Amino acid sequence: MNHQVNCLHCIIPPHMLDSILANGNAAQRKLALDCIGISGGIRGHRQALMSAVAYLTPLTAPGKHRTVYTANNGSSLPGQQMRDEGQPPSSDVAVNEAYDGAGLTYDLYWDVYQRNSLDGNGLHLDSTVHYQQNYDNAFWNGQQMVYGDGDGQLFNRFTIAVDVIGHELTHGVTQYMSNLDYQSQSGALNESFSDVFGTLVKQRKLNQTADQADWLIGEGLLTASVHGVALRSMKAPGTAYDDPVLGKDPQPADMAHYVNTTQDNGGVHINSGIPNRAFYLTAAGIGGYAWEKAGKIWYVAGRDKFKNTTDFQGAADLTTQTAGELFGTDSAEQQAVKNAWITVGITPGAPQTQPQPQPSGCVTAPAAIIRSIFGGS
Ligand SMILES: [Zn+2]
Repeated sequence: MNHQVNCLHCIIPPHMLDSILANGNAAQRKLALDCIGISGGIRGHRQALMSAVAYLTPLTAPGKHRTVYTANNGSSLPGQQMRDEGQPPSSDVAVNEAYDGAGLTYDLYWDVYQRNSLDGNGLHLDSTVHYQQNYDNAFWNGQQMVYGDGDGQLFNRFTIAVDVIGHELTHGVTQYMSNLDYQSQSGALNESFSDVFGTLVKQRKLNQTADQADWLIGEGLLTASVHGVALRSMKAPGTAYDDPVLGKDPQPADMAHYVNTTQDNGGVHINSGIPNRAFYLTAAGIGGYAWEKAGKIWYVAGRDKFKNTTDFQGAADLTTQTAGELFGTDSAEQQAVKNAWITVGITPGAPQTQPQPQPSGCVTAPAAIIRSIFGGS
């Protein structure tokens, strides 16, 4: 019996939860298991919501409208309303962080790319904090943001990192644009797109140029007792953490180290390291504020050219093409995009050479671990 982690659009990837199950103490394993069980339930719920959302006509006027709720450590959504747009700060730090993070994300998309919220039509940004007890994740459920408080041993509260908020809300943007299939390379691009605009929200908040930014995803989320600095590194994939409980960051930095796996929807949180680094290299090559040029190239390519099935080669081709259209053929910007993809092992314009997914030879055995912990469940 294979253990399946079905966490769609969660910030904590399944390989990390698996590692906690294998290596954590009893309390940590219990929390990881709760997270997996809840996430599995969310998947079906999310698909139902997606179908419902397709029939909804947006009711909203253009503009920024945020509402933050609390689940009061339960699981009903959206929960009790705590702060609506324009209201003064709450005494609850998680409420204010969710509110501010949603605002910074809205501002990036509106101020820089003239996109009016996630759907381009002023969609209200709803968030729920204090979801469940000690819940070790944050996710976009197809309709709203949801944040756990973290267990305090491995993870802090999930509103603490503004790039995590930008990451999750960008899953909403992708849903309304290319709707990249959440599987294999298109899924890794979906993840990477969220990391790109998540880190741009953070860099813009901090007013950092590409060479000043840390290019980490989720810095501040891991507690001081974890050996690691963040969930991922866009600049140096594979180096974000190496911890007895969380395991080692499995992200490859180039195509030579592409991970063929059936886990994690075909490695969507793993191989995203490759396009993540391509974006970092593009931004570093162009210089200045990454959201201005590199971000614009990625945004316009994602909005106008990506399809749900776009793979890494397609992303390389289409971002290079977009850079030429925005900044001129053979411009410094287009050269930076081209060089970035070549560095990670993909030549823009080259014929399709997609690694064939192979069955994982070594399926981890969390099901056995779960049985051993909980006695045959
Ligand atoms: Zn994600």
